[in-house]
Amino acid sequence: MSRARHGTVLEFLGATQTVTGSRFLLSTPRARVLIDCGLYQGNKELRERNWKPLPVDAESIDSVLLTHAHIDHSGYLPRIARTGFRGPIFATPRTVELCEIVLPDSGYLQEEEARYASAAGYSKHSPPLPLYTQEDALTSLKQFRAVDFDDRVEVADGIWAIFRQAGHILGSASITLEVEGAQRAAVTFSGDLGRPSHPFLCPPAPPADARNIVIESTYGDEEHCESNPEQQLGEAIQKVVDRAGVAVIPAFAVDRTEVVLFHLKRLVESGVIPSLPIYVDSPMALASLEVYRNAIREGDHQIRAELRADPDILRPDQLTEARTVEASKAIRNVRGPAMIVSASGMATGGRVLHHLAQRLPDARNSIIFVGFQAAGTRGRALIDGRREAKLLGRHVPVKSEIVDLSHFSVHADQSELLDWLRAAPNEPDTVYVVHGEARAASTLCDAVRDQLGWCAVVPRYRERVLAIPANSN
Ligand SMILES: [Zn+2]
Repeated sequence: MSRARHGTVLEFLGATQTVTGSRFLLSTPRARVLIDCGLYQGNKELRERNWKPLPVDAESIDSVLLTHAHIDHSGYLPRIARTGFRGPIFATPRTVELCEIVLPDSGYLQEEEARYASAAGYSKHSPPLPLYTQEDALTSLKQFRAVDFDDRVEVADGIWAIFRQAGHILGSASITLEVEGAQRAAVTFSGDLGRPSHPFLCPPAPPADARNIVIESTYGDEEHCESNPEQQLGEAIQKVVDRAGVAVIPAFAVDRTEVVLFHLKRLVESGVIPSLPIYVDSPMALASLEVYRNAIREGDHQIRAELRADPDILRPDQLTEARTVEASKAIRNVRGPAMIVSASGMATGGRVLHHLAQRLPDARNSIIFVGFQAAGTRGRALIDGRREAKLLGRHVPVKSEIVDLSHFSVHADQSELLDWLRAAPNEPDTVYVVHGEARAASTLCDAVRDQLGWCAVVPRYRERVLAIPANSN
C-alpha cells in the first residue's frame, strides 16, 4: 500500500458536518497515522458508514492517536483492530483508563444489537453480525500506549506528537503533530474542547503552533447563556422536594455524572437544598466515577489546584451507588424526595429507561436534562413537549415536569472556540472546522474568517488536503 508520495496529506474520514465518527488520517511518504477512531452515531445513513471499510487498509496504518475516550472518538478502534490494525494506540493515561470502561461496554452493546436484530428479523447479514464484540474490544485494549501530557513522542517513523490538556473530560487532549524535516508543526487537532468554566477540570491549554488547525464546532453557532447552572439545578430540585417527588437526571456516564454530583454536594452544603437520598444507577458511570476520584486523590494536574486531594468533592451526603441489578431494582421502591442519576444521557437506552417508565406518569416528579439532546432522541422529544413516551415496549403518559438545563455542556461555545484559536502563537495557513452539524460548522467557519481574518473551511467527507506541500519545510 503506497504512502503519500509527495508532501504530508491530511484526509477527513469523519466528523465532517456531523458530530460523530471523528477520524483524520495524516500520511507522509514514510508513515500513516490516524487521529481519533470514532464510531458514527445518529441516523441510519451515518451508522452505515461504520460498516464501510476505511479507504486505506487497516494494516497499513502505523498508529492511532486518541484525543479522548468518548465513543464518537474511540469506538471504531475494536473494528479496525479486528480488521487488521496491529499498531500502537497512543492516548493519555486517563483516556486509557476510561477506554478500558467504555470500549468493552460498546462491544457488548454491538452484540446486543445483533442479537436484537436477529430476534426481530431485520438485518442485512444472516445471521446478524456485530460490528465488533466485547472480546474484540478487550483485545484492542492491549495495543494502548499511555503518553503523558506535554511529552513529545515519536508515534510513527518521522512523526512526533504532543498531547495538551483540552479540559473536556478527564484525559481529553488536543494533539499537535510534527513531521521530520518540516520547520513548523503540521497540524494541531483541537479534539473536543471543554469550557473554561468546568467546575473541577482545568481549562484547555492554548493551541500549539502549527500550519493547520482542525477545530471542533459542536456549539459553533451558539453562546451558552450566562445564567448559573448550579443555581438552576438547585431551583429545579427544590421544586421536587416541595412536592415530595423524585428527580430523575439522565446523565452521560463519563463526566456528566461527576459534574452533577459535584454541584449536588455544594448545593446541600450551602443549604440551598436539603440533604436527600441520591442514587447513581449506571455501572459505567460508577466505574468512571472511580477514575475521577482517583485522579482527584492523586492530585492529577487536570483537576483545578484548589480541589486536588479531596475525592469527597464527588461524594455528596446520602449517596447510594447501585452496582448490582438488585440494587438498581430496589430503587423502584424509593419514595420522594429523592434523586436518581442514571445513563444514558439522552434517554436512548440504559437503566434510566426503567426509571423514566416508572416516574414520568407522576406529576410530583421531575426529569432534569443536563446535556446536549440530539435531534431524534427520546430526550429531545421530551424537552420538545411530547405528552407520551414509549419506553420498554409500552406507552406512558408524561405528567412529570421536564427541565432543560443543557447549558451544563462540556463543549465550548462559539466565543470560547474563537478565544482558543486567538491564543495560537501564530496565524495558521488554514483552519478546518469539523465535529459540528452543517449549520454550526459553517457559522464558526464564517466567524473565524470575519473575526480573525484567517483562512477557514468546512472540509467535505473524504476530502484530502496538503498539510505540508512537497519540497516545503
Ligand atoms: Zn467528547
